[in-house]
Amino acid sequence: MDVKIGVLALQGNVSEHCEAFCRALEHLGYGGTSTVIAVRHPEDLLGCTALAIPGGESTTISRLIDKNSLYEPIRNFPGGIFATCAGMVLMATVVADPRVHTLGLIGMTVDRNAFGRQRESCEMDLHIEGLSDDPFRAIFIRAPVVACVDPDVRILAWVDQGIVAVEKGRYMALSFHPELSCDSRLHERFLKSLGI
Ligand code: GLN
Repeated sequence: MDVKIGVLALQGNVSEHCEAFCRALEHLGYGGTSTVIAVRHPEDLLGCTALAIPGGESTTISRLIDKNSLYEPIRNFPGGIFATCAGMVLMATVVADPRVHTLGLIGMTVDRNAFGRQRESCEMDLHIEGLSDDPFRAIFIRAPVVACVDPDVRILAWVDQGIVAVEKGRYMALSFHPELSCDSRLHERFLKSLGI
C-alpha cells in the first residue's frame, strides 16, 4: 500500500512534522512506499491518507486557511487529521478569540495560551492513555488546553492546567509538540488508528 501524508504548510512547525511522519512511517515498515508532502492548496489534499496541522500561530494559520480556500476542503477531508498546539486550537468547536475561524471538527472548547506566556513554556512527562507505560516527554510552547469536551471525544491525557490530548475517531489533537522530540510513538499511534 502506498501512503501519502500531507502536512499543512502555511506557517509553523512544518518540516518537523514532515520528518516525524517520515520516521514514524519507516518504523511501521512504509519507508519505501510512502510520501510526505506539503499542503498549501486544496488540490494538494488529493490522495492523502492523513493531514497534519502543525503548531505555530493559530490566528495566522486560520487567516491563511481562508486565504488559500482550504477551509471547506479541510472540513470535508475524508482522512485522518493530526493536530498539534495551534492545530488543536483550529480543530475546536469553541475558541474565545474571534480571529480564529475554527474548523469545528472536534467538539471541544479550547483556551489559547492557557499555560501563559513564552517563558511559561515547559516540558513534562505525560502518561498517555493507551500508549504504553513509558511516559511521553511533552514539550509545551504557549500551549492551549481543552476546557471541556463533548461525550464522543476521548481524553488521552491531562495535566493540572487541563486536558492536553484528545482523540475523536480519525482525529487526534495535542496541546504539545511531539514533532519536536525524537519520540514518534504518537505519530505512529495516529497512523495505526487509520489502519496504516
Ligand atoms: N499559542 C499559539 C496559538 O494559539 C499556539 C502555540 C504553538 O502552536 N506552539 O496560536
